Amino acid sequence: MDTQTALADLSSCLGQRLSRSKSDLDLHARSESYFPPAPPDAVAYPETTEEVAEIMAICARHRLPVIGWGTGTSLEGQAQAFSGGLSVDFSRMNRIVEIAQADMVARVQPGVTRGALNEALRATGLFFSVDPGADASLGGMASTRASGTTAVRYGTMRDNVLGLEVVTARGEVIHTGTAARKSSAGYDLTGLFVGSEGTLGLITELTLRLHGQPEAISAAVCAFESVADAVETVIDTIQCAIPMARIELLDADSVRAVNAYAKMNLPEKPHLLLEFHGSPSGVTEQAEAFGALAADHGGSGFDWATQTEARTALWTMRHNAYYAILASRPGARAIVTDICVPISRLAEAIEETRADLARAGVPGPILGHVGDGNFHATLLVDDTDAAGIACAKAAAERMVERALRLGGTITGEHGIGVGKLGYMAREHGQAWPLMGAIKAALDPDNILTPGKLVPPRN
Ligand SMILES: Cc1cc2nc3c(=O)[nH]c(=O)nc-3n(C[C@H](O)[C@H](O)[C@H](O)COP(=O)(O)OP(=O)(O)OC[C@H]3O[C@@H](n4cnc5c(N)ncnc54)[C@H](O)[C@@H]3O)c2cc1C
Repeated sequence: MDTQTALADLSSCLGQRLSRSKSDLDLHARSESYFPPAPPDAVAYPETTEEVAEIMAICARHRLPVIGWGTGTSLEGQAQAFSGGLSVDFSRMNRIVEIAQADMVARVQPGVTRGALNEALRATGLFFSVDPGADASLGGMASTRASGTTAVRYGTMRDNVLGLEVVTARGEVIHTGTAARKSSAGYDLTGLFVGSEGTLGLITELTLRLHGQPEAISAAVCAFESVADAVETVIDTIQCAIPMARIELLDADSVRAVNAYAKMNLPEKPHLLLEFHGSPSGVTEQAEAFGALAADHGGSGFDWATQTEARTALWTMRHNAYYAILASRPGARAIVTDICVPISRLAEAIEETRADLARAGVPGPILGHVGDGNFHATLLVDDTDAAGIACAKAAAERMVERALRLGGTITGEHGIGVGKLGYMAREHGQAWPLMGAIKAALDPDNILTPGKLVPPRN
């Protein structure tokens, strides 16, 4: 690897848009993750696909590692430059190329955020459904196969990316998928790149599926005496096929934290946060059916709001819950866990986790996208307390083992990066080396975000 020559070549190509300033390196050294800062050697700000292809060709020639950067909100160290190299920041590739209303499809550059896309769609009667808490970039979201509160109804990025333009490790530009809703034309390369965390290529354009704005939307909260009652309600709701648009759990500790942070006054009990989409009568029917199931499990205070302001306040509160939990213990840092189990095992998974955290004395409010069987315990640790950190990490590891034992996965939505690398063999067995073989075929020199997701190369 010849870093200095590579950077000189990149500088000739990008001019001022190749940065080595300390502030830029610091910004791209960290993410929202728990991992220590790891700065790249430089940051590139491309504006076109051709520039990305040229960047890749230069980096391939000099074997310089290349790490894509969307908004840096990923939680498992994915966007950090642990082997140095070039961080390719897509914030200047933020153009919405086309909104094809009749086809309910949008073509966007990777730096467009989900918030910006939905703002642009506002007058069209359409929306883009995938909603992680952060206002992440669509390129980053595709790369981590993100999901969030609405996946229970509208699916994850896997279901909502129809096609991609990708720059490969050799600097070739390829296209996968089409604007059609389905296809039987060969290997599903779109599906391969979605969730590949930048290890197989850099995404330079996405073709996204849009959904029609529902005629009526209502949101609700419902309190329960125990987490078990709330979770049993969720399981019944999903098994009865009530088409929930959102169904989120907050345990009592999470509710206490959001009350303090967002100046709310919810009863300090486990809650479900809900949203119903449909026609006005459909929404009423769904809410009534849910209300009956909740009552069977002792649910109280169930009420639904149709006013936009009330709904917005509710989901803003939910999206800020991570920061509320962090603020509940000043100075603490978070190890965010993310397991997902089949819905029939959800109650067991959450109850075992709660009991385990209580036994281990690890503070870890629980919340999650429970309609998908996905939940997070946000383990709060003090950076100066090595024993406490070790204890929290051991509890996180037991969560992963629990997920696998119950037939689930080590990560529902946050992905692998370096944080979950050690568990990949346990989830995938011989399929993990196969992932390594795919990576070696597409990136023989191992320059695309090396050291993450696939088995280490000798
Ligand atoms: C408070 C909070 C709440 C969150 N809630 C959720 C949630 O509910 N659901 C969820 O799924 N996630 C959640 N996340 C995690 C995070 O928002 C997602 O992982 C998101 O998809 C990351 O997008 P990003 O733009 O920040 O990507 P980055 O963090 O910048 O990058 C993520 C990965 O994608 C790669 N990458 C970025 N752009 C490209 C590109 N154009 N081509 C190739 N590779 C690229 C990077 O190299 C890296 O591997 C949450 C994070 C926070 C901080």
